[in-house]
Amino acid sequence: MTEDSQFAIPISYGSTEVIDTGKWGFQKPHTQFMAAPCQEACPAGNPIPQFLYLASDGRYDEALQALLRENPFPGVCGRVCFHPCEVHCNRGPYDESVSIRAMERYVSDRAPNQLPNLKPNQDELSKRIAIVGAGPAGLSCAYFLCLLGHRATVFERNKELGGVMRWGIPEYRLPKSVVKKEIRRILSLPIEVKTKVDVSKDISFDEVSRFDAVFLSPGAKLNATLSIEGEDLRRIWKGGDFLERINLREEVTLGKETIVIGGGNTAMDVARSALRLGSKVTVAYRRTRDEMPALRDEIVEAEEEGVRFEFLIQPVKVSLLKNRKLAVKFQKMKLSDPDQSGRPRAIPIKGKFLTLETNHLITAVGEQVDLSWIPRELIKNGLIDANPSPKIFAGGDAVDQPRTIVTAIASGKKAAISIDLYMREGSYEEVFSKIRLGNKGSVSMETYLSGRDSREWAEPMEVVPYEKLNTLFFEPIKRVKVRQLGLDRRVRGFSEVNVGFSSKEASLSASRCFTCGTCNYCYNCYFFCAEGVIQLDPVKGTKYVDYEHCKGCGTCAKSCPRSVVVMKEL
Ligand SMILES: Cc1cc2nc3c(=O)[nH]c(=O)nc-3n(C[C@H](O)[C@H](O)[C@H](O)COP(=O)(O)OP(=O)(O)OC[C@H]3O[C@@H](n4cnc5c(N)ncnc54)[C@H](O)[C@@H]3O)c2cc1C
Ligand code: SF4
Ligand code: SF4
Repeated sequence: MTEDSQFAIPISYGSTEVIDTGKWGFQKPHTQFMAAPCQEACPAGNPIPQFLYLASDGRYDEALQALLRENPFPGVCGRVCFHPCEVHCNRGPYDESVSIRAMERYVSDRAPNQLPNLKPNQDELSKRIAIVGAGPAGLSCAYFLCLLGHRATVFERNKELGGVMRWGIPEYRLPKSVVKKEIRRILSLPIEVKTKVDVSKDISFDEVSRFDAVFLSPGAKLNATLSIEGEDLRRIWKGGDFLERINLREEVTLGKETIVIGGGNTAMDVARSALRLGSKVTVAYRRTRDEMPALRDEIVEAEEEGVRFEFLIQPVKVSLLKNRKLAVKFQKMKLSDPDQSGRPRAIPIKGKFLTLETNHLITAVGEQVDLSWIPRELIKNGLIDANPSPKIFAGGDAVDQPRTIVTAIASGKKAAISIDLYMREGSYEEVFSKIRLGNKGSVSMETYLSGRDSREWAEPMEVVPYEKLNTLFFEPIKRVKVRQLGLDRRVRGFSEVNVGFSSKEASLSASRCFTCGTCNYCYNCYFFCAEGVIQLDPVKGTKYVDYEHCKGCGTCAKSCPRSVVVMKEL
């Protein structure tokens, strides 16, 4: 032990200092960081234990910097991510999972104008990369490419950047000001942006292919059709077009009643937006509530706000009545054997129909990728192939992956690393196996950068399961509920429904994290070591064990609540 340690307490001077008691032991303690299951489950690989630990210590700027190293959209994800991290949180089996998403939002909102303190690192291998589409996938790819020292040029057909975050998700779930702030932060890096440029109409695919590499992220915006009689009537709208008009603040007037067809998140956004425009809304879905693909929270909030649901019906014909209303004829359905996705199929009940009258009908039955301008060799199973040629990469909704913002961000990040490896002739398989966070597909940019120049990476960390934690040292604390606007204020306008945490709520929520697999200097090992041979320095981030005098009793490992101290046999 060093002499100046304020924590050095020689328990027994005679035995500990003079006799080399370290020679008695057959095992010694080691610090071994592990990945947390929440981090493994976050497709973007957010450093969750680290950012929550920093937030619990009131170091919000550092917490945001930690997030920005892995994800350029914490404010967006902190609001609308489907938060798989919370499902896998180790606190779940103990009492209730940590409010990770709400904390991500809080940290991001506390310092909205902070820039990433990452320096783009250019060298002779820095290349020019074209990115088609400025949704979360394309913008994330540009952000990470830039941090890796490459020059990205983003082509976007719209006037505004952001993709679905901009035109699709309604203001009451994701305020446009949040999207704009995060995009502004990305554009503070040297990224070239060309808006109102449609690749295929304004610039050819061949021209774009002349860049050193290309990332295709055009999303999936084509609204699927119902293919029924009367579908072209006026007053029948496509869900995507309806949401886009609202998000562009165009005037949209609905009649007294609106029927929305579909059961996914787009249908919920359409229904709740129509309700806010003063219409009485009925959602018609061909299966039951249990099979609806929309997130549970979305369904519950729609119900709370007064959206009605009609299940097990499917539209077959629309006609215009003399009173100028629409008559929508529905086939009644019943559930049958599961289909390929595992959900029960909906099959018609012969001869059973239902007709509903409405002023407007809005369809939200899925989105498709516009492949009309994509070369055939890049298409696979009706989507773009994720890595169809050595220099062409693709991601987001246009490839075969879950259609969510966080997976779009993750695909942009992985493509940036793949493009960097392509320029450096590195092995994808070897590198991705080293930078993985557990086994669910997420990767760490910080880890990639740590070994990028030397081409050497440490072995990946294992994930710490709940059983390996010592929960004796934790106390049950109730999860803080995210506050929401009152119901009548909610439906009267487009104000954000979730209010977010107060500073007190945020501090309590952050402190609930076990920081699984990461040392947070709780000092248990120090206090429980009977020999007094452990010394910690939280400021320098160091830990010292006097192995000459450690008897290898293992008390430190047993008393570590988060499975960081492990005993290794000599
Ligand atoms: C209504 C709605 C609500 C949703 N809600 C959620 C939610 O709450 N949480 C969640 O996680 N996910 C949600 N999603 C899904 C999520 O938004 C998408 O998975 C995500 O935006 C996909 O990102 P992307 O970058 O692949 O595509 P997009 O966001 O679609 O961006 C693609 C961009 O490419 C541009 N582009 C296309 N073709 C060209 C071309 N030829 N030339 C130039 N530019 C082009 C487009 O204009 C667009 O800006 C929602 C989707 C919808 C439709
Ligand atoms: S991005 Fe989503 S999955 Fe990742 S930490 Fe945030 S809420 Fe959780
Ligand atoms: S307790 Fe904290 S580190 Fe552990 S899984 Fe939950 S959020 Fe992650």
